[in-house]
Amino acid sequence: MTKLGSNDLVILVLKMRTIWFRCSISCAKIKQWFQYMRLCYKSLTYNSFDSTVESAFEPIFCIVDFSVRWFGVAFVTTVLCLITSVVVIFYLHILPYVLRTHSTLYSHLHVLYGHYLLMMILFHYYKAVRTDPGKPPLQPPGVPLTSLCKRCILPKPPRTHHCSVCKNCRLKMDHHCPWINNCVGHFNHRYFMSFCIFMVMGTIYVSLSSWVLFNDCFNLGEKVARMYSMIGWQDNADEETKIRHPSPPNTCTGKDRSYNSSVVYLWILCSAVTVALGLLTLWHMLLICRGETSIEKLINEKDTIRLRKRNVKFVNPYHFGIVENWKMLLGFSNWKSFLRKVVLPSTHLPDGDGIVWKSNYKTSFIA
Ligand SMILES: [Zn+2]
Ligand SMILES: [Zn+2]
Repeated sequence: MTKLGSNDLVILVLKMRTIWFRCSISCAKIKQWFQYMRLCYKSLTYNSFDSTVESAFEPIFCIVDFSVRWFGVAFVTTVLCLITSVVVIFYLHILPYVLRTHSTLYSHLHVLYGHYLLMMILFHYYKAVRTDPGKPPLQPPGVPLTSLCKRCILPKPPRTHHCSVCKNCRLKMDHHCPWINNCVGHFNHRYFMSFCIFMVMGTIYVSLSSWVLFNDCFNLGEKVARMYSMIGWQDNADEETKIRHPSPPNTCTGKDRSYNSSVVYLWILCSAVTVALGLLTLWHMLLICRGETSIEKLINEKDTIRLRKRNVKFVNPYHFGIVENWKMLLGFSNWKSFLRKVVLPSTHLPDGDGIVWKSNYKTSFIA
């Protein structure tokens, strides 16, 4: 066995240090490579949804968004066609009946109220469809930004959310409504709510006005027709029945059949809209009373659960009391401005610019 000299030991140590150094570099490179691959994997599998369930439904969301975007004009046309059909049937059948069977004063009030509702419905529907709900500016001056939109890659002011149908951020976004082919946001929220309220009032009015005729057509028409076809119409009908039915209903003529169908269609359509839109309107009115939008309701529910675990009570920073919330939405301050801005058609802008919001933020602990 050869003895190692001091020089050999130094060389051996140096060689071992070199090997150790090269191994360290290789390990660092492998680690860097793994980090790089991990980043690649995460960037390829990234999605903006909260959970994997939502990710799985993404193709369906895309199809729904696409359909809503492209069929928006068809939805608006459908609404206008339905309103037109109701107005035409009302003019042809309901109004003549009201004018013939009620006093002059009552008939005039009837006509006045019906036309007022029609004017308010059409005005608010037009404004809800045509008014831009509001987009955030590219660089909001001196605004405390809450977050960044992951789709637009732009700063989002408070209460602003991204609409996947419009492919844009909307100020104080409530939801995207296919029936107006537009987002409901800061600048058209009042028009949307007024349209819903006046529409429900209008359908209730038409349903009540046409109830007697509907009852005749739907329930009694067949019996009356059978009876009068047997015993003769003109000799036996009383005066009121003759007014309601110029000829025996459901007997022989196509005119009577179309009259019956029109009245039944009118009543069923208006009653169905009263129930469906009425529930939707009540839901939105409840949200306004709570000072939150449809999107904020979901966010606030999550925040309530999250903060409860920390023993903190969630307080909605945009809730100022029921009356104040309605005043802020409708833009009135007293009864005079209420009559001018809410009861009559008005194009006034909402309070604020939709970018800066006053808030009553405070932290309170659960007792
Ligand atoms: Zn966006
Ligand atoms: Zn939208």
